[in-house]
Amino acid sequence: MGQGCCTSRSVVEPVSQNQNASVNSITNQPNAPGPLAVTTGVSTHQPAAAGGEDKDFIPIRTTAKPIVFFVLGGPGSGKGTLCANLVKKQKFVHFSAGDLLREVAKEDSEDSKLVNSYISQGKIVPVRITISLIENAMRAKGWEKCRYLIDGFPRNLDNYQGWNEVIGDKADLKGIIFITCTEETMMKRILKRGETSGRVDDNVDTAKKRFVTYNSETFPIIEAKRKENPDSVFEVSAENSPDQVYAECMKKIAHHL
Ligand code: UDP
Ligand code: MG
Repeated sequence: MGQGCCTSRSVVEPVSQNQNASVNSITNQPNAPGPLAVTTGVSTHQPAAAGGEDKDFIPIRTTAKPIVFFVLGGPGSGKGTLCANLVKKQKFVHFSAGDLLREVAKEDSEDSKLVNSYISQGKIVPVRITISLIENAMRAKGWEKCRYLIDGFPRNLDNYQGWNEVIGDKADLKGIIFITCTEETMMKRILKRGETSGRVDDNVDTAKKRFVTYNSETFPIIEAKRKENPDSVFEVSAENSPDQVYAECMKKIAHHL
């Protein structure tokens, strides 16, 4: 799981119309910006990191709510790789819901057996477990002080409803970074990863089940969100090199940062 760091600024800045439009449609928040919708900071310049890799760095706005992007795409599509680049170059805090769940699976707890069995069957873990892991992880990182990538979540409509119920308008959800690639490419990447990952689901049989779960449960969320507000789905092709995928993603999300 990637980790990022938080920085803040301190000049008052109103939220742009565009930002409100996308936030509202995806979170069902009212149109008029309430007190929490007014950001509390934009800043002055922040220096690029040594080595120049952050030359396109967009300073982090400290707002009253954490800025969140969901990152979705098929299993093995490259969500983790894109997130690692966004962490490195844009100081996002990244949580992979799958990684958080795998940590639970390792424990000796009531939930661990259940989580392990869902993961090895390529099925979606009950949202009560996943959402509390995500919320705790965000709170531990500083909540509104950071901008977050939540990778591999929401996996289905039930997950999304869980987010709305538990987090809802406590966060500024900008939308879904949706990465696309063919099943052939995903299978290749999963099997390659399986050579070293030790993951119980990095094998042909579980991958096939996961493609089915993805197509029947996760993809409909993308379709629904796109229908609701096309500007809240940032589609990026993941067939290209990691640097190209990152660049394409930044073109789509930069104005939301
Ligand atoms: N998973 C889940 N809920 C989530 C995220 C993951 O139930 O919100 C489970 C599910 O069984 C999934 C597995 O964890 O198949 C692996 O997910 P991960 O995102 O790590 O897979 P990746 O897409 O990175 O291959
Ligand atoms: Mg992943």
